[in-house]
Amino acid sequence: MVAYREETPTARTVVLDVPGWPGHLPGQHVDVRLTAEDGYSTQRSYSIAAPTDGDRVELTVQRVPNGEASPYLTDVVSTGDPVEIRGPVGGWFVWHPTDTQPVLLVAGGSGMVPLMAMIRARQAAGARVRFRLVYSVRAPDERYYAAELRSLERAGDGLDVAFVYTRTAPEGWPRPPGRIGADDLTAHGWRADVEPSCFVCGPTGFVEAVANILIDLGHDPRRIKTERFGPTGG
Ligand SMILES: Cc1cc2nc3c(=O)[nH]c(=O)nc-3n(C[C@H](O)[C@H](O)[C@H](O)COP(=O)(O)OP(=O)(O)OC[C@H]3O[C@@H](n4cnc5c(N)ncnc54)[C@H](O)[C@@H]3O)c2cc1C
Repeated sequence: MVAYREETPTARTVVLDVPGWPGHLPGQHVDVRLTAEDGYSTQRSYSIAAPTDGDRVELTVQRVPNGEASPYLTDVVSTGDPVEIRGPVGGWFVWHPTDTQPVLLVAGGSGMVPLMAMIRARQAAGARVRFRLVYSVRAPDERYYAAELRSLERAGDGLDVAFVYTRTAPEGWPRPPGRIGADDLTAHGWRADVEPSCFVCGPTGFVEAVANILIDLGHDPRRIKTERFGPTGG
């Protein structure tokens, strides 16, 4: 690990330097293997948070209380420590910067990570494809990449960002806290006849609920790509 950034009180971005990294597509993940001194080892999947940048690979990890792997990555590993990864993994949940179709991104919690890689890849490519992000989090201080999203949105080149707060909303926020629903996706997403590419990522229940809402709103299931951040383990 060569650097890290605190994203929220419970999530950290770790920056890895991986000599000979072959590059990756936004949306792909890596498998991180952690090995204890006694030889016990365990593996977890983590999405890559940024597009290809030489040998750099960035992951953003949410600390899961009492989790085996995530607290090590958020609290213990430090600059200079080796981290074993395998990847890139996954070829389905990816956005190609050459795609011209409008995009709807729907994130739940740490599900924002691969969607941020897509947003950053769009920016890096100078693409002007319209992106709409609907990002569900419990509370304002749990938003990842908040300042960067604000500045990218302010650039006014086709990225719209809407937050849905499930537990605590900022003072004066027009929408009461609650789970994402059809009204949110109607207000902040695309109409189905625009035929957007939809990427939905987050905890399993969130992903299933959002995918069902999108289908009910008329979106073609073949245009809805999902990534479930269920427990990985093994
Ligand atoms: C393709 C893929 C990409 C992923 N990308 C990311 C990522 O970018 N950032 C990230 O932080 N995580 C990501 N995850 C989740 C990650 O792989 C781990 O599951 C998570 O970090 C928990 O691991 P742990 O060892 O700390 O907890 P474990 O020791 O595996 O679990 C501890 C307890 O927490 C529960 N638990 C496990 N995972 C979760 C979870 N995600 N949410 C709620 N409860 C959980 C378990 O059921 C168990 O009760 C991804 C998962 C997948 C499948």
